[in-house]
Amino acid sequence: MADIDYDSGWVRLLQRTAYLVCWIVMSLACLVLIGWLFEISLLKTMIHPGRVPMNPLTAVAFLLAGGTLWFLLPETASFQRRLAGFVSAAFLLILAGLKLADYQIVDQGIDEWLFASSLGGSRMAPHTAFTFLLLGFALILLDVRGRHWPSRACVMIVAVIALLSLTGAIYSTLVLYRVTGFIPITLNAGLGFGLLCAGIFSARPTREPTATLVSATAGGIMARRLLPASFLIPLILGWMQFRGERAGLYGVELGLSLFAISNIIAFNVLVWWNARSLGRIDAERTRVDRELHRQNTLLEQTAHDLVQFQKEIQEAKETADNANKAKSEFLANMSHEIRTPMNGIMGMTQLLLNTGMSTQQGEYLLLIDQSADSLLVLLNDILDFSKIEAGKLELESIPFQLRETMGDTLQALEIRAADKGLELAGHIPAEISENLIGDPGRLRQIVVNLVGNAIKFTETGEVVMDIEVESETDETVRLHCWVTDTGEGIPQDKQQQIFDVFSQADSSISRRFGGTGLGLAICTQLTAMMGGRIWVESELGKGSTFHFIVEFEKQKGIRAQILPDLSALNKMPVLVVDDNDTNRLILMEMLNHWEMTPTGVADGPDALAALTASTAHGTDYKIALVDVMLPDMDGFMLAEEIRQHTEFKDLIIIILTSAGHPGGLKRLQELGISHMLNKPVKQSDLLNTIFNVITGTSLDAMSGQLSISKITQPRRILLAEDGIVNQRVAVLMLESRGHRVTVANNGIEAVKMFQKESFDLILMDIQMPEMDGLEATWTIRSIEDEDAHIPIIAMTAHAMKGDRENCLESGMDNYLSKPIRANLLYEAVEAIPVDGDPADRGTLSDESLSSPPVIEDERADQNPDADPFDWDKAIEQVGGSEAMIVDLAQLFREESPKIMQAIRTSIDEKDLPEVRRNAHTLKGSARIFAAEPAVEAAFRIEIMGRDKDLAQVEEAWDHLEYEIGRLMPALEKRFSKTTD
Ligand code: ADP
Repeated sequence: MADIDYDSGWVRLLQRTAYLVCWIVMSLACLVLIGWLFEISLLKTMIHPGRVPMNPLTAVAFLLAGGTLWFLLPETASFQRRLAGFVSAAFLLILAGLKLADYQIVDQGIDEWLFASSLGGSRMAPHTAFTFLLLGFALILLDVRGRHWPSRACVMIVAVIALLSLTGAIYSTLVLYRVTGFIPITLNAGLGFGLLCAGIFSARPTREPTATLVSATAGGIMARRLLPASFLIPLILGWMQFRGERAGLYGVELGLSLFAISNIIAFNVLVWWNARSLGRIDAERTRVDRELHRQNTLLEQTAHDLVQFQKEIQEAKETADNANKAKSEFLANMSHEIRTPMNGIMGMTQLLLNTGMSTQQGEYLLLIDQSADSLLVLLNDILDFSKIEAGKLELESIPFQLRETMGDTLQALEIRAADKGLELAGHIPAEISENLIGDPGRLRQIVVNLVGNAIKFTETGEVVMDIEVESETDETVRLHCWVTDTGEGIPQDKQQQIFDVFSQADSSISRRFGGTGLGLAICTQLTAMMGGRIWVESELGKGSTFHFIVEFEKQKGIRAQILPDLSALNKMPVLVVDDNDTNRLILMEMLNHWEMTPTGVADGPDALAALTASTAHGTDYKIALVDVMLPDMDGFMLAEEIRQHTEFKDLIIIILTSAGHPGGLKRLQELGISHMLNKPVKQSDLLNTIFNVITGTSLDAMSGQLSISKITQPRRILLAEDGIVNQRVAVLMLESRGHRVTVANNGIEAVKMFQKESFDLILMDIQMPEMDGLEATWTIRSIEDEDAHIPIIAMTAHAMKGDRENCLESGMDNYLSKPIRANLLYEAVEAIPVDGDPADRGTLSDESLSSPPVIEDERADQNPDADPFDWDKAIEQVGGSEAMIVDLAQLFREESPKIMQAIRTSIDEKDLPEVRRNAHTLKGSARIFAAEPAVEAAFRIEIMGRDKDLAQVEEAWDHLEYEIGRLMPALEKRFSKTTD
């Protein structure tokens, strides 16, 4: 039922009808009572003048029934109204009950007492009283929750009674509803009952039987049409038949026939009319059904298309994912493949630069070195950018120290600044939190890029890096950093564009300076990943300031740096000699922070004057911080001058120099100055140095190592590296710095040598035959003494994310990516502290260079008819050294028969990993001489080993034998030609 839609118009109409009924019934009853009170017979008989009047008690009963209905009409009537309704219904029931009892017990009613004089025998008949009793029940049970049928049944019975009485009254057939001996129900009373029935039904229109009548369905429409007709047609036709008979127009038989025929015709017309309407409705429903079906089919089709589309999207996504994966792998491989030969190029170039040669050759070599450098930067940039694009770049979250990171980064950049005669300064106020968590490597990358650009685009003046706290919570700190230069500036219209990929402010400038246009694009992405942003302010001709904001977590539990007891430095007078105002201010700020008493002067003469004045006042300076680069009288000259004055003999001179002036070391020693600090000076270095020179002890609480440049202590290094070229590069680089190197050709050798001899550190390649670097490290870690941890530095051509983590996870301490840069190698190696007397330890030799040379694999161009080798390319590959290639050819001549034998044995033994590894080794060795046919033949066998399919191996072996057989004499011929 709840689902039926009701026609609200009809619902309202019925509710109003119910109200109307109440008022009509109550008004009629009142009129009848007035008639009885004032003896107005017209009012007593109402619509049936001249006939039996309505009994006054009947009128009272109608008044009570009408009133009850009125009280109970609103379904949500108030409690008081409902109570009034029930009281009124109760009166009605009592009245009707008493009336019925009258007849049984005393046979005298209330009406007879009240209207004894005028009643004249009129009494409420028992059947009228019974009808009122039914009405009383119907009203009292109207809203019994969940059981409406008793009330409805009572009303139904009353309705039948009313119908019988009305028909009786109309047709004057008094027998239909009466009790013998009593007058029948009057027309007035019959009408009253009929009206009350209609009123009670209409009071709750959404309950059956009225619910169907007011429903908005076809059934509702039909009921509304048929119901009145089904009452009216028989009633009217019957009345006409009756009247006609009375008037003598026709007899009873004809009258009945006419009544039947006219009923048949009227009902047939009614049925036809309704059937037609139903037919229309049905046709409309069928049409709607068809439309619905059509829409449904359409929907199904769309759903099917959608599923298909989804499938296609999924496939496309998988393809894209695969392509992306392939791209990353390709990038990793490409990076690896390019880095390996570049290691040779760059290493050899740097070594060659240290040998005697003509100026022109030197210039050419420098150009090669610079080009290789740019190529490496480009390679790194492209790799980074691709990783960011592919969403593969993830930031690290590791603890780091801000000042150390920034200080180291700026010091590394100082060489470039010093080369151009620029001052580079870094200012990190003391109040900034030092211990942070984040990605220091990526922070360094941003700074290197911005400061690098600033140096690149500035000809004179200075580059200053500043930091301040933008905002801070207990957990995080947002840093605002900015790099200011005094360079040429950037035009307004280019200031946004330069942050786009491959975009440069002035392409002619970039031709002059090089660069990829990727740096700032990468910085933009990195700063965004660090929760910040980057922007520039610049004025043409005046310089630029690049700002960036980055957010880091603070290390928990470390609130502020705990400074050690610095009372020894309290109020100590320090002279700062630097012509650069920014630098001088930064130095003085640091000294002031530690409560020393600094005085700043800009040049040598002023410094001498200040020293003399202080001696005169008896406030001798204890320390002088002297910048090397001073106008007219440089730092060394000033130091020399100071040394000539005996009154300044206690003055400790700390020279501030840049890594770009290594030549100064000798002069320092000559002047007896043992303390030197690299610029830009790191706060920890400065404090450590001052503390050290004043107290003779080192500061434990400070994080920085002493960076007083002393002559490098030689380290005993175990180099585990299988590539012959890489071995040479690393050995020469390290030995030129005074270190002693022992070479292991693979992991197993490395482990054995580690057990046999004593080393300060191990440089470990990752990809090696027999046992790779990770496994070797793991083995060493498992056999070494717990308190004698040997530092292991990884060297690998893999530069993708994860490699570093893999290395560190397997127990390595540091990571260098190939191509190895001399300064980075020295930095990593020399950062490892050496204790005890190195001379006590065993001396190591580098005799083990005889193993097969292996370089990383690379798919060769397949050309079987090519020359057995390309001498020029081979020389080019090792950095232009013919002597080296001759050296290597000698090795190859000795080694290749052994490797061939190893391949043969492994094929015979079906040892697939060995087949693969030996063929790989031979391939790598042959590639050194650009011996493509042999490389290709070896590569074929390597693939067979890898794919575990030796079906064609004999044929491949014959081919390899043929190619090696062809290569060896050709090499020998060429080799003898050269050595001749
Ligand atoms: P690259 O330096 O490799 O060309 P970047 O993305 O780092 O690429 O820089 C883009 C361009 O922005 C540079 O080519 C240069 O034109 C301009 N630029 C960047 N920094 C500066 C600066 N400090 N002074 C002047 N121009 C700059």
